[in-house]
Amino acid sequence: MRQHKKKFYFEKDDYHLEGSLLDLTKGLLKFLSPYKRSFLFALILIFLSSLLAMISARIMGLLVDEGLSQKDFGTSMKWGLVILILEALSLLGLWRGRYSLVKASSNSLLDIRKNVFKDLQFISMSYFDKQPEGRTVTRMTHDIESLEDFFSGSLGRLLNALILFIVSIFAMLLTNLNLGLTLLAGLIPVFILTYFSRTKVRFLNHQISRYNSALNAKLSEYLRGVMTLRIFGWENWSLNHYGKAIEKHKQSFLRANIFYAWNRPLTNFLCTLPIILLFWFGGLKVLNGALELGLFVAFIRYCERFTTPLANVTREIQQIQQSLTSGERILSFLNAKKERETLGEDGHSEPAPKGGISFQNVSMYYTLDQWILKDLNFTIRPGEKIGLVGKTGSGKTTTLNLLGRLYPFQKGTISIWGHDIKSFKRSHLRKNIGFVSQKALFFKGTIKENIFLEVTEFDSKKEIALKQLGLYQWLKEKGLTLDSPILENGSNLSEGEKQFLSISRVLIQNPALLILDEATAHIDIKNEEKIQMALDLIMENKTCLIVAHRLHTLRNCDRIFVFKDGGLIEEGNHEELINKKGEFYHLSHETLKFKG
Ligand code: ATP
Ligand code: MG
Repeated sequence: MRQHKKKFYFEKDDYHLEGSLLDLTKGLLKFLSPYKRSFLFALILIFLSSLLAMISARIMGLLVDEGLSQKDFGTSMKWGLVILILEALSLLGLWRGRYSLVKASSNSLLDIRKNVFKDLQFISMSYFDKQPEGRTVTRMTHDIESLEDFFSGSLGRLLNALILFIVSIFAMLLTNLNLGLTLLAGLIPVFILTYFSRTKVRFLNHQISRYNSALNAKLSEYLRGVMTLRIFGWENWSLNHYGKAIEKHKQSFLRANIFYAWNRPLTNFLCTLPIILLFWFGGLKVLNGALELGLFVAFIRYCERFTTPLANVTREIQQIQQSLTSGERILSFLNAKKERETLGEDGHSEPAPKGGISFQNVSMYYTLDQWILKDLNFTIRPGEKIGLVGKTGSGKTTTLNLLGRLYPFQKGTISIWGHDIKSFKRSHLRKNIGFVSQKALFFKGTIKENIFLEVTEFDSKKEIALKQLGLYQWLKEKGLTLDSPILENGSNLSEGEKQFLSISRVLIQNPALLILDEATAHIDIKNEEKIQMALDLIMENKTCLIVAHRLHTLRNCDRIFVFKDGGLIEEGNHEELINKKGEFYHLSHETLKFKG
């Protein structure tokens, strides 16, 4: 059962993308709303520019009727000049309108970029467990760039075409209802084609985006695992998998292009249908004397005015669709569950970090119904040093993660410093907990930046602890200073060195509660003792929770909790547990046997 469920643990890409175009428009409009005045201004200008273009088209008819066909040079010149001025004003209006549009949309895009990154800080941890890293990166890079293309170019052209289209239809219907309706009828096939193609186009674009993001996910996974791949000689294996991902991406691209290869020319052709109809019916009417030549010319201009932008838009419809798909993916990322949805609204309590910790009947799962912690009960008194031991996968890290409110728990109560953990302001709780996790993580920068972070206060106690820890000694021995660089992920440091620096980092933060999860597993015995002394100094009278597989390191702990299958099965100090000859005794025995 468990295996079966695990298969579905990773969420499929595009899982949430079921919204309509209306939802997407609404979602994107939310970002445009702070700049609605600029948008409105832009729309009005584009509208006025289209109106001027239509008037100019109508005057072209007058130029023919009153000027050219009457061989009246003066009138021809007069209308010619008016047309020139109208065209110039229309161009100016269009330029100014597009400028405002691009400016407003660039600002909205900046907001989207900021929001995407801001949301990253609030999205629940389980999202990151279920989504490959590359997929999130693709949303934050490729999808945003694609949306940027849309906002900075296609949106302006699309609105321009739409407004021109509406204005010219009105102009045609007002000028000559019959001919106007005939031309409108000529547009029906292109609308039918667009309507029936839309589902296919959407499907093809989703497929391209999905395979593109899968490709990036694979790339980032293999880049991170390059060492493992090389050591195991799995280069061909990774090449094979990457090749398959490329193939899927290529196929989706090919499928889309084959579709567009016939769809686009056909759409282009259907866009010219109104002009063909105009020449056919309009031409006949002119020959029969039922239509003035000037009106016929004006109609040709109207038609041109909307068919050219319409054809331009249909030419870039693939790009527009791609951007809209990206928009959907970004919105789905922005809609991902935030901590406030998985953990509940942030609390208001900001108590002083004094008092103990208690877990009462706590049960939790990551994936529905696969209980990881089962009815966990314990109490920790203020200032106690607690060791946590247990076989791999027994739930130690999970228990500690609950203290930092990184994941929700489904049953029971956790109290800390006299308050229910759910009532805490989460940032306050986390600020007071120093967490040295199993995986020490560093950012590109200097040693100082990485261990001091935002800490500005630096008292003598911290200075002494750092000396005791041996940080300065270590730096001196390595010929380093606090300004020496650390590469991304701390790749120029050994695992032990990383742990050493991450313990220095947490000591400087001086937390009220210290959590060490296998924090010294990679450090040699001599340095481990030094660290122990430094911790004793800085954590005097403060609570510590220490997970260790090297059980002798827990000798000085006040009590040790022994975990098994998500529950607590033994507790007591080192001596008591050894004498009890239970699980702890067997664990330490196994460790000794293994060492021996
Ligand atoms: P170790 O000594 O190896 O660090 P642990 O006692 O810390 O083990 P946990 O990390 O708490 O074990 O994991 C307990 C169980 O929960 C394991 O079966 C693991 O597969 C599962 N688990 C841990 N983290 C997650 C997660 N983010 N999503 C889903 N399942 C998880
Ligand atoms: Mg663990």
